[in-house]
Amino acid sequence: MNDTHPFRSRIGAARHTSRRSNQLLRLIRAAQPITRTEIAERLSIDKSTVTENVKPLIADGVLTEETQTAVGPGRRSRVVSFAENGSYFIGVNLGVRRTQIGTSGLRGGLTEYDDLPTPRSPTAALKKVRQRIEAIVEHMSGRRLMMIGVSVPGMTDIDRRRLIFAPNLGWQEVDIASELALASGTPVIVENDATAAAMYEARLKIRESDDGLLSNFILIRSGTGIGVGLVIDSEVFRGGGSARGVAGEFGHMTIVAGGKQCVCGNRGCWEMYASAASAASLYMGDRPPKSGETVPRFVEIVARANAGELRSRRTLEKIGDHLGIGIANVIMGVGIPRVVISGRLVYAWHLIEAPMRAAIERSIIGATHGWSVEAGEPAGSAIGGAVEAAIEEYLNRI
Ligand SMILES: [Zn+2]
Repeated sequence: MNDTHPFRSRIGAARHTSRRSNQLLRLIRAAQPITRTEIAERLSIDKSTVTENVKPLIADGVLTEETQTAVGPGRRSRVVSFAENGSYFIGVNLGVRRTQIGTSGLRGGLTEYDDLPTPRSPTAALKKVRQRIEAIVEHMSGRRLMMIGVSVPGMTDIDRRRLIFAPNLGWQEVDIASELALASGTPVIVENDATAAAMYEARLKIRESDDGLLSNFILIRSGTGIGVGLVIDSEVFRGGGSARGVAGEFGHMTIVAGGKQCVCGNRGCWEMYASAASAASLYMGDRPPKSGETVPRFVEIVARANAGELRSRRTLEKIGDHLGIGIANVIMGVGIPRVVISGRLVYAWHLIEAPMRAAIERSIIGATHGWSVEAGEPAGSAIGGAVEAAIEEYLNRI
């Protein structure tokens, strides 16, 4: 490994990447291999503009263009993909219960290396993560680590280097980027986990869709808490001014005045009523378990409901109702009618969907506008999002 990271010189430099070339690179990554004609059609731009953007990146060895023989008589076409140039990315999802660490190249191929319990203290947790990263770098010798993306269940600072506050982890003011800095100088980016998950879901949906963009949507991640990622005008939105890094903290909007005590210090927060973790508390009657009594995990509540147990069915219906109330508030506040739900709560989708829809329909937005709520990934968006955050940042800088 070189003393100076090859990418370091570009950090801090003015970002010349235009929005168009960001979108173009995202589309290539989601839909590769892809022809220049298809890129032009899906982004509604001229083929010459595609060529203008793609050519220098082919010359730089970031992209590659190969001849592909398509099915049919003598059909050959030139397709663009990211080059297999030995570069790779590490993603770390610092979850409340568990931490996942994985790698990916620009051509895809997510490899999960580790899934370990998250130590309670930030120092112990980051020391462990750092050791794992160093082991991966050693294992991948000969390949070049371009960026490390760390997703966290809380707010980040403006530069996305520090975690400001993650109530469910109990962590405050942790300089994650410095703690994980390698001698090679590989940049570390710290991203809110719901924002990271939104980037990940956006790529999956771009791959499935016919156009090249996923302009506006709200990603709601419900697991231990609730996080919200916002994609507005095809870019993630993190907030503005001194509150940049705060946007999407809807998990802590109050929906019940004087309601249940939340770990953030306030009462009646949305995540106390509509997260997967809140289902266990509701199932137990919102009282501490008696001695010898075990609190069921979320997947167990879902299994019991599937087996016909009334108490778990009622619990999940109530969660769905509160989820819908919050979703209506978020749609009204942000003005975006397309919602994707991800995280553990998705395991109960068939049970929560009807009461959730009924709650949205009761709201003014439900009565006046079209809206959609769909289920995303129950699990993959955690580590997928962390890696995505690293790659997205890299693409923004080239
Ligand atoms: Zn709260």
